[in-house]
Amino acid sequence: MPRAYLDHNATAPLRGPARAKMLDSLHATGNPSSVHAEGRAARALVEVARENVAALVGGRARNVIFTSGATEALALALSGRWRGPRGAPARLLLSATEHVAALEGHGFGESAEILPVDANGVLDLAALHAALAGSQGPVLLCQQAANNETGVLQKVAAAAEKVHAAGGLVVCDAVQAAGRIPYTFETTGADMLIVSSHKLGGPQGAGALVLREVSLTCDRPLIRGGGQERGFRAGTENVAAIAGFGAAAEEALAHREEEAERLAGLRDKLEAEIARLAPGAKIFGAGVPRLPNTCAFAISGLAAETALMAFDLAGVALSSGSACSSGKVRRSHVLAAMGVSDDVARGALRASLGWTTTEADVAAFSTALAEILARIGRKTAV
Ligand code: PLP
Repeated sequence: MPRAYLDHNATAPLRGPARAKMLDSLHATGNPSSVHAEGRAARALVEVARENVAALVGGRARNVIFTSGATEALALALSGRWRGPRGAPARLLLSATEHVAALEGHGFGESAEILPVDANGVLDLAALHAALAGSQGPVLLCQQAANNETGVLQKVAAAAEKVHAAGGLVVCDAVQAAGRIPYTFETTGADMLIVSSHKLGGPQGAGALVLREVSLTCDRPLIRGGGQERGFRAGTENVAAIAGFGAAAEEALAHREEEAERLAGLRDKLEAEIARLAPGAKIFGAGVPRLPNTCAFAISGLAAETALMAFDLAGVALSSGSACSSGKVRRSHVLAAMGVSDDVARGALRASLGWTTTEADVAAFSTALAEILARIGRKTAV
């Protein structure tokens, strides 16, 4: 039986054009920094990808810095070494539902300040306002575009307006939004946008930090050496991964609007099935704007850890909150920040859809859920 892969927020299956581009680029023997024909051919692959990634976020190609992924891009953006028009930010503000790669604080370490979110996981703008009011110098705000666990969208433009008025800078982690909904410098007002290849159907291990202005300067980039990526990130480029990233970005952008509509339809069907089979089930963030592909839910009496395994055995790949390297289900800091009780959070599951998702996948999810609920003796509606 074919499997239903509903874990696109963890990683999306490689898109056909990305795979083809990567295979093709493996024939390029040159180093992109070399001036001979082979080097120029490799350089051309990187530069086409740079154009594609820039187009995805409405930026300029020369402001795209390729990295090994969004985690590294966040580490670079939050290194504390960037200078805006009013100098280098001395404080880092983060919303409580940021990805752990941002919550790490990087150059700001323990001094990073966490701002609260409301019950839907949306940043409390009044708390941001208060934090800015007490600030001596410019601050750096790191604000997600969309949450990886719930899909809830943040009001980045409103936050950026406040931060800019106070002379600060905004880093927007657009990893889950890019390629799924329009997310650009213009709509967010962000100074730096972060994108990850594997969330939009490119290979794992590639990402980008995209700068809005060339005038942003970095005192000492994290990785120094050969001066690649305009000196912002040294090291010979991972040509095949970058080429695949670019092709995936191009493909995601070309189909973004129709895919968003199709996936919202499938996600709504999936949520209707949850409501039918488990009346009273909780859908997190259901009352506020969300990504069209994400459904985070909890059903009373169903523990995430056992449910994940049961779904897996039934051929359905889901996730419980954010994926983590140990493969263990840990308590979600996102749901905790939203004030969800431990009891409910223990049952939180996530279905995230994408370019491979079909009606058959939603049907497989529904069949598996009905069987799992029957097994635990939970009454379901018919
Ligand atoms: N930011 C968000 C919102 C994510 O969902 C992820 C991955 O799960 C990351 C950052 C890190 O991305 P990468 O896997 O490219 O390091």
